[in-house]
Amino acid sequence: MYTPSQIFVKWEEIMYIVMIGAPGSGKGTAAKILAKELNLPHISTGDIFREQIKENTNLGIEASKYISKGILVPDDITIEIFKNRLAKDDVKNGGIFDGFPRTMAQVKALDEMLVKVNKKVDLVIELKIPDDVIVQRILNREVCSNKECGAIYNSKFKPSKVPGICDICGSKLVARVDDTEESIKKRIKIYYENLGGMIEYYREKNILYSIVPEDPTSDKASEQAVNSVLQKINNR
Ligand code: AMP
Repeated sequence: MYTPSQIFVKWEEIMYIVMIGAPGSGKGTAAKILAKELNLPHISTGDIFREQIKENTNLGIEASKYISKGILVPDDITIEIFKNRLAKDDVKNGGIFDGFPRTMAQVKALDEMLVKVNKKVDLVIELKIPDDVIVQRILNREVCSNKECGAIYNSKFKPSKVPGICDICGSKLVARVDDTEESIKKRIKIYYENLGGMIEYYREKNILYSIVPEDPTSDKASEQAVNSVLQKINNR
């Protein structure tokens, strides 16, 4: 079903996992499942920014200038907020990083942060999804408005049982403000501009695991992607 490349890292060594994937690739959903399975914190820079925007903090106001335009928040701001999150106790024994790093400057910064505590990125999971599917996935994406829940649906590929209502907590489902067609195209373009260097860097380190789902439109695509990773690691 999947055509993953070989994983060279040992299961017992895996602590810090980076998820790479275009916006709408399902990396957020996959990261959440993986975090639950491995009992590791799920750290999403996008979620941190959205929280700050909601709370109207200075960081939120600054970040929203970029996010609303579909462009990346500058590296210095992003690296600083990630560094603060990484310093928290719950990330001491590992974490699933979703949406960070996204640029080579962030890749290098992450390595430096981890080296300081004698750690490293152990595994990088890349979800490869065709662009046309990505656009459809984002345009139909619905997220739970309850941030404690944060469940993600897709009105076309993975609908909630009752339209507009979260299956898990019953809260209202909303679209993300940056999920417009213009913003999506810009975000995908920026994603590919940064991807090559990151992929090459992690491939050279032999920690890259790329997954190409056979049916990326399936509502189970993210779940199956995670299972393929877990299976591969457990079978070593
Ligand atoms: P996401 O939820 O990961 O799709 O992120 C939503 C938006 O937050 C992105 O389109 C960027 O504007 C911003 N963002 C999230 N993570 C980063 C990052 N690592 N570097 C720069 N901007 C980011």
